[in-house]
Amino acid sequence: MPETFEIKSALDIPAHLVGQVQSKLAYVDEHIAAASISPDGQRIQLELTGKLESAEQQALEAKVQSVVEEMAKGAVLPKVEILEDHLVRPTTFDQDPMPELLSSGEVSEEHTGIFSFGPLLTRLIEVFERQFLALADEFGAKPHRFPTLISAEKLGRVQYFRAFPHSLTFATHLRPDLDVINGFSQHAAYEAPNGLNTAPESFSRIQALLSPAVCYHLYFALADKPLPDGKLVATAVGNCFRYESSNMTTLERMWNFTMREIIFVGPADFVLENRERARQYLEKAFEHLGLAYRVESANDPFFVGEFRRQAAFQNAFQLKYELRAQLPFKNSTLAVGSYNYHQDFFGRNLDITLPDGKPVHTGCVAFGLERMAFAFLAQFGLDPQRWPTPVREAFNE
Ligand code: ATP
Ligand code: ZN
Ligand code: MG
Repeated sequence: MPETFEIKSALDIPAHLVGQVQSKLAYVDEHIAAASISPDGQRIQLELTGKLESAEQQALEAKVQSVVEEMAKGAVLPKVEILEDHLVRPTTFDQDPMPELLSSGEVSEEHTGIFSFGPLLTRLIEVFERQFLALADEFGAKPHRFPTLISAEKLGRVQYFRAFPHSLTFATHLRPDLDVINGFSQHAAYEAPNGLNTAPESFSRIQALLSPAVCYHLYFALADKPLPDGKLVATAVGNCFRYESSNMTTLERMWNFTMREIIFVGPADFVLENRERARQYLEKAFEHLGLAYRVESANDPFFVGEFRRQAAFQNAFQLKYELRAQLPFKNSTLAVGSYNYHQDFFGRNLDITLPDGKPVHTGCVAFGLERMAFAFLAQFGLDPQRWPTPVREAFNE
């Protein structure tokens, strides 16, 4: 039996923040195995990893209340703009696809949040990739390949550590020291559930992380110089890493996933017009695929201290829209892609300039390939006979 612990929230969490606060509770204390907030926003149910002393319990409760307060106190209702509503498209399946994906061996979980895929998912993802590549072609986007590691120095320059500290994944290596390396080779062992038994001092200081997004690499490559021709459209697919803590239970939230991005760099109107053109293009493509979804304003998952200000800013300037696919089995939606506008944030922080010397503006269209496949299977099941014809045909090509 897991230990449970219920907290009466010091303030009512408004409905539009329940999901966002709930996902942050996974980062509040290592004793929290799962957290849920009652729909009225008044009660917080925690599942704990074990029994706590009363002092520990009080400390945990204080942390939970401070998160609620920082994220929800004085929050104003965001203006939710719905750009497309295709949620009622006919679908053919209403079960959670995860059990069958696991039992058939189509998905295997190598470790929490780390999944391998078999031929069905691999080929289905290729079908979606072809759609995104056709979109990229439409814009004459130049193809790029980016590394899986990302520079700590450059992420610092774009204030990533302040905005998203909770989901970072760090890359390290043993210090180049004979004694350290020999000691490791003789004694290293994985001790469940804690991990490798190696002392932290054996590892070098962090110079690199595992990349949390694709488009950052393009901005880093363009840094500290004028942008040739003053505008650019690029595309790339890459591995992305976000530590989603105890929220990583299915393909909905993975530690390691892949993202396809189409990236626009140039003057503000160029970026905004292209972001809108991409959305209109994909609206047709998704109609063809039969996916049930809607596109609505959203915000990035900023950490607690930055959340209120940054989310309000994104909302006020309509910087982010998410394409949220219907998940019939849980009667909710899941973001499979986003349309983002960063204004001149990267241009300013990385000193990328237009011919007139002003900083460039940037934007991107970003799709999570595993989530695309997961949402599609949640709507149409694992049997291609029940899929919309264009998808089945493209799948069999
Ligand atoms: P969410 O709000 O669901 O956490 P996000 O707003 O952080 O997503 P973006 O930063 O817009 O997502 O990333 C673009 C896309 O990458 C998402 O729409 C989603 O498809 C995918 N993605 C993001 N995080 C994950 C994850 N942990 N596992 C799988 N796919 C993800
Ligand atoms: Zn991006
Ligand atoms: Mg989001």
